[in-house]
Amino acid sequence: MKTRKGTQCVHGGVVPSFAGQGTTTPIHTSTSFSYLFDDDEVIYPRYFNTPNQQVVASTIAALENGERGLVLGSGMAAVVAVLLSHLEQGDHALFHSGIYGGTRSFAVETLPKYGIHRSFVRSCDAQSFESELRPNTKVILFESPTNPLLQIVDIEKIAQLARSRGIVTVVDNTFATPINQNPLDLGVDIVIHSGTKYLNGHSDVNCGAIVASAERMASILHVATQLGSTLDARACYELERGLKTLAIRVQRQCESASQLAQLLVKHPRVKRVHFPGLPEHPGHEIAARQMAEFGAMLSFEADADEAEAKQMVSHLTVARPAVSLGGVETLVCFPKDTSHAKVSPAERAADGISDSLVRVSVGIEEVEDLLFDFDQALRRGHPR
Ligand SMILES: *Cc1c(COP(=O)(O)O)cnc(C)c1O
Repeated sequence: MKTRKGTQCVHGGVVPSFAGQGTTTPIHTSTSFSYLFDDDEVIYPRYFNTPNQQVVASTIAALENGERGLVLGSGMAAVVAVLLSHLEQGDHALFHSGIYGGTRSFAVETLPKYGIHRSFVRSCDAQSFESELRPNTKVILFESPTNPLLQIVDIEKIAQLARSRGIVTVVDNTFATPINQNPLDLGVDIVIHSGTKYLNGHSDVNCGAIVASAERMASILHVATQLGSTLDARACYELERGLKTLAIRVQRQCESASQLAQLLVKHPRVKRVHFPGLPEHPGHEIAARQMAEFGAMLSFEADADEAEAKQMVSHLTVARPAVSLGGVETLVCFPKDTSHAKVSPAERAADGISDSLVRVSVGIEEVEDLLFDFDQALRRGHPR
């Protein structure tokens, strides 16, 4: 029976045969399994085939409507395994400039060392992507919504564009979550997650995931095994536990984010709100087509300079200033100081990321408390 997201979160994992019949998976800490168990396959954590790894990988594959899932030690391990397994010397890879900072620096600093060319596209429209394609382009990687401006890329259009030229498309679906968006259904080849964020959801496990066809996964697995970035059994179990509440967490987070965006948009101390759920957002219509809900990330610019904006944020009592996202707690940060600290001021300006931009990852607190908190902090900050 093909079940719905909330049910898949709880029951999606296929538990390989084992004696116990508990409702949760026993934590298999062994790094040595008998080779008499199966003639074809040696079980070993770095081969990604222990029971705890397989349960979470199959849950995430089910949530993304993909054939195979792989769970790794971090989101970056997923990014690197996918890129290295699909690129070789002389190839070109195209990235959207609104991608995660770690992915960006891997593309900028590391790929050229191996003779792999890369370039970046700043706009979100398909024509801009198309104009950057080269005869040797092998991979296009992007995110939607982007960080931190929540720009929307038309996933289906880019996937079509790439497919007609035999280019592999990779979408980092971390911000959207598999509850809201399934890029494979839109023609994308590979989906990546930083599981550290929404999938685990409790800000206490660093992990990553990849979902792709069985054929593609075979080549990714080969490289991932060599990179050796596995997730140990206990962390897999924590991720398994976090995944069970993914759908209800995300549902509530999206609902609260939408209410917070509406409060901010009308707030006298706020100049601009970036949230794809707002009708005036330039990507609203595309987001409404390709996402179930608009996500729980937003960013805004207060009617304030950097110092004033920082003062406002310091008055928040429920939301906490911290890096990362996707957990149960509401977090705020200044991308200038966090995700984009290593990007030059000129490039940040070109990307539209001002020094006073505030990014919010909306948590699962009571929405009334969140709305009150942001309202009072904005009003208190630096009276004019
Ligand atoms: C955090 C993040 C990553 C990197 O994930 P890690 O688990 O920190 O390695 C990749 N992509 C996006 C969109 C992220 O937010």
